[in-house]
Amino acid sequence: MSKLIDGKLVAQSLKKEIKDEVLKLNKEGINVGLAVILVGDDPASHIYVKNKAATCDTLGIKSFEYNFSNNASTKEILSSIEKLNNDSRVNGILCQLPLPYTIDKKAVIEAISPIKDVDGFHPVNTGKMLSGYGELLPCTPSGIIKLLDYYDIKIEGKNAVVIGRSDIVGKPLAVMLSKRNATVTLCHSKTVDLKSITKTADILISAVGKEGLISADMVKSGATVIDVGINRTDKGLVGDVCFDEVSKVAGYITPVPGGVGPMTIASLMFNTVKAAKIQNGMKI
Ligand code: NAD
Repeated sequence: MSKLIDGKLVAQSLKKEIKDEVLKLNKEGINVGLAVILVGDDPASHIYVKNKAATCDTLGIKSFEYNFSNNASTKEILSSIEKLNNDSRVNGILCQLPLPYTIDKKAVIEAISPIKDVDGFHPVNTGKMLSGYGELLPCTPSGIIKLLDYYDIKIEGKNAVVIGRSDIVGKPLAVMLSKRNATVTLCHSKTVDLKSITKTADILISAVGKEGLISADMVKSGATVIDVGINRTDKGLVGDVCFDEVSKVAGYITPVPGGVGPMTIASLMFNTVKAAKIQNGMKI
């Protein structure tokens, strides 16, 4: 039976450190603020934004919320971002994805000042990450690395297989694991014979969004299995991994919910504090 990787527990411990850091900054006269832009009425996005604001509250970070209707134009959103870029109360800006198809996502991401880009999606931050000196790294992949480190799961020299090549999870995660000296294989929807590849993984990460994608026969005995997928089903939220059967084979496994999700929010708060320090010329 595998050991459970408890994302809630690790996120709590990270959030405690962040809260202490915010207090220290407050004592130096620095307040930390995060602005979240929400466009449209996607119910899941509304829940995510509410959770982010609530987490800010518990950590002493001031949150600013900007809601736009489905009919909003790219121009309106860009103008709001410009104001936030120049607002000294705001250290971090994020625009909740997905955006309605009418909005120019690339323009929105590029409008956010790189030093306030706490999602780490701006091309300047992506480039820095690729070059190995990134400061604001994408939240879900950096949360996953923190989970592995917390449980002392060795990354160096291991075979890591990442399934899913999105800009927000799969691609940056492959880069970060490679920086930590794993041998990385990045799989996607056109990968042929996925099972033959996943069987080689010491660390297997699924970021696809397909219930039941990873069955026990695809997992090497003792492997670490990280499930990023979020699928809404009649049974509630489930990941990509068949948890019951895979947990009999894996060495470590994350649950859904309560695995990667809480780390994503905690990493966002971590980035916001980091951004505040960068903007105040402090060491990070
Ligand atoms: P995405 O939805 O943009 O893309 C999915 C990826 O999966 C693509 O790269 C595609 O090539 C690949 N794929 C699709 N079918 C496949 C198959 N049969 N075999 C192999 N690869 C396949 O990716 P995303 O935005 O990274 O989201 C992936 C999942 O992770 C979703 O369920 C999303 O809700 C979840 N997610 C969770 C968190 C979190 O904090 N827990 C954060 C971000 C995303």
